[in-house]
Amino acid sequence: MMAADANATLVEKKEDSPKMPDKKKTKYDVIIIGAGPAGYTAGIYCSRAGYDTLILSGILPGGQLVNTTEVENFPGFEKGIMGPDLMIEMRKQTQRMGTTIVDDEVVNVDFRNAPFKILTASEEYEGRAVIIATGANPRKLGLEGEITFGGKGVSYCATCDGPFFRNQELIVAGGGDSAIEEATFLTKFATKVYVVHRRRELRASKVMQERAFNNEKIQFVWDSEIIDIKGDQKMQKAILKNKKTNETSELEVGGLFVAIGHEPNTSLFKNQIDLDDEGYIVLKNKTHTNIDGVFAAGDVHDRTYRQAVTAAGFGCMAAIDVDKYLTEKA
Ligand code: NAP
Repeated sequence: MMAADANATLVEKKEDSPKMPDKKKTKYDVIIIGAGPAGYTAGIYCSRAGYDTLILSGILPGGQLVNTTEVENFPGFEKGIMGPDLMIEMRKQTQRMGTTIVDDEVVNVDFRNAPFKILTASEEYEGRAVIIATGANPRKLGLEGEITFGGKGVSYCATCDGPFFRNQELIVAGGGDSAIEEATFLTKFATKVYVVHRRRELRASKVMQERAFNNEKIQFVWDSEIIDIKGDQKMQKAILKNKKTNETSELEVGGLFVAIGHEPNTSLFKNQIDLDDEGYIVLKNKTHTNIDGVFAAGDVHDRTYRQAVTAAGFGCMAAIDVDKYLTEKA
C-alpha cells in the first residue's frame, strides 16, 4: 500500500451511495465511530444481524487506506486494488447491508449510562451499544517531502509496501521496535537498509537489536535526523543532519520508511474509557472496553498487527460481541 492523496477520489465517488441517511433519526441499536476497515466490517456484521446500525464516519471516511495507492495484501483481489477503491467498495457493501452512514465528525461522547450519547456539531445520537473504530495514524517526521513523495517513495508500513521496493537501497527512520522490525523485514527485498536514528542508543528490545546488528544488509546512522527528502517523480535521496556535529550528508535511496510510532485517535475518549500510557484503548475481555456496552475494534487498540485485514477481523469480532451483549440485555 503506497501513500498518496486520494481523498478527493473518495469524496467524489461517495455520491454513488445507494442510501441517503435519514437526518431525523438519532436512536440506533449500534453506533460505530469510524469508517476504516474495522468500522465498515462491524457495520456489515451488525446490520446483517438485524441491528439498526449507524456509522459516524468523520469528515474523510475510509481511514488510512484512502491515503494509499495499491493494496496487494487484502484477500479477494487477485491483481490488487487501489486503497481508495477498496474503501469505496467496503462502504457500498456496508450500505447495501442496511447500515446508515453519516459523514460527520464526533465532537463528544457520554458513556456514563446506556443508551450512550454521541454528539456531532449538529446532532445528538443515542446508541444501545457503541463500537469505537477510530484507528491510529502513523507519526510523521513533519517534512514537506513526506507529502510530496507520499506514495512515491515515502511509506509508513513496511509490511504493506516492502515488496514494491525490490533491489533498492532504503532508509528506515526510528529506533524503536517498529523501526528495527521493519528494517529487518525490508532486508528481504532491499539491497541495503539504513536505519537513521536520532540518538546513539536504540529503544528497541535487545533481542531485536542483536538481530539487526548481525544483519549484514542493515547499516545504522546514529545521532542523525532526516531534514529533507528530494527527488523528481519519485523520492531519490534523503538529506541527513548529524545532531552532534551539525554536518549534513545525503543518502541516495529508493524509499524511506518512517517508523517513529503511531498516535491512536482516542482524545475523544479520555477520562471515559481506559487508555494505556500511549493512548491506545485497553480491552478488558475480547473486544469489550471497561464500559459495559462500549467495544473497540482495529488500530485504536491494536498496536501489533495494524493491517487492513486484521482491523476488518477486529470489526467482525466487535460486532459479534455486540450481538451477544444486546441479546443478553433484551
Ligand atoms: P516507539 O517505541 O515509541 O519508538 C519510536 C522511535 O521513533 C523511537 O526510537 C524514537 O526516538 C523515534 N522517534 C519518535 N519521534 C521521532 C521524530 N520526530 N523524529 C525521529 N525519530 C523519532 O514506537 P514503535 O517502535 O512504533 O513501538 C510502539 C510500541 O509497540 C512499543 O511498545 C513497542 O515495543 C511495540 N512494538 C513491539 C514489536 C514487537 O515486539 N515485535 C514490534 C513493533 C512495536 P527515541 O528513541 O529517541 O525516543
